[in-house]
Amino acid sequence: VTSLLTFTRTKQGQYEWIQLVGHPGTFKEGLHDGYILKELSEKERRCCELLQHDILKDFVPKYNGTVKDEEGKHYIEMEDLLSSFHEPCIMDCKIGVRTYLEEDLDKSERDPEPRTDLYEKMIAIDPTAPTEKENEEKQILKPRYMIWRENLSSSEDLGFRIEAIKKSRGLMSKEFQRIKERNEVRKHLTEFIANSIPRATQYLNRLTQLRSTCLRSKFFQTHELIGSSLLFVHDTTRALIWMIDFGKTRLLPSNIHITHSKPWVRGTHEDGYLIGLDNLILLFQEIIND
Ligand code: ATP
Ligand code: MG
Ligand code: MG
Repeated sequence: VTSLLTFTRTKQGQYEWIQLVGHPGTFKEGLHDGYILKELSEKERRCCELLQHDILKDFVPKYNGTVKDEEGKHYIEMEDLLSSFHEPCIMDCKIGVRTYLEEDLDKSERDPEPRTDLYEKMIAIDPTAPTEKENEEKQILKPRYMIWRENLSSSEDLGFRIEAIKKSRGLMSKEFQRIKERNEVRKHLTEFIANSIPRATQYLNRLTQLRSTCLRSKFFQTHELIGSSLLFVHDTTRALIWMIDFGKTRLLPSNIHITHSKPWVRGTHEDGYLIGLDNLILLFQEIIND
């Protein structure tokens, strides 16, 4: 499930949420100014904590521990990356060649749970996608759905896909599921930066800094980053990028070393994170040099 949210401040300085899809109630206003709360996942909390002490710390939201609300629900408190921007434009790019864990595949094979909701999601995007058997049962297995989504979008080929874009003041678009071709992706990136070469250059510099920091990062060397995103945020003066969403980031088994840049073969744990980063870098370079 993808929850696409953005946070904006109203004139009174209060938060306003726009959620297009996904489970409502994942995010809310933080206890401290400039912070937000995200529903606690122990795995994500662990990553946030480790990242505060890693050289990647300037590329992730600041983490402020966990909190419990009146209903007893637990959250992680993290920096609101939008709070220092004025009417920002926002883009969420999901990085990597796959968005499911190998353990999810294993689990589904051991204990298959066909789902009607995934069947319905699939036919909403492409009514011709299900097999005859799936049409009869009106159910689909999660890994089959995830693999289909990867192939439908640019994830498999480019190592990233655009999940959502919100232009300043403008509406949020989420019609990106089927954007697969490199030129099409580039068109959307160009549109997102409103054709501004200085902005493309700011993003490119941030991407190349991120890449070189990843290569030196202990966290990056020892983790498999699945379903994680880069959040692009700009207003008229600044353009920055952060790594977010570590709900499916996992510590690698100690006997496994990954390159982050080789295509995934089951059992290797390769995530394709650098494939995505390199393609984003190339695309911004092309936009600048055109
Ligand atoms: P999914 O796993 O379905 O992608 P999620 O529930 O794990 O969703 P995130 O991907 O972490 O949620 O965040 C969803 C959206 O919320 C992002 O696309 C972004 O717009 C916004 N968001 C997340 N973290 C922050 C942050 N620290 N500051 C500002 N906005 C954020
Ligand atoms: Mg996400
Ligand atoms: Mg997530």
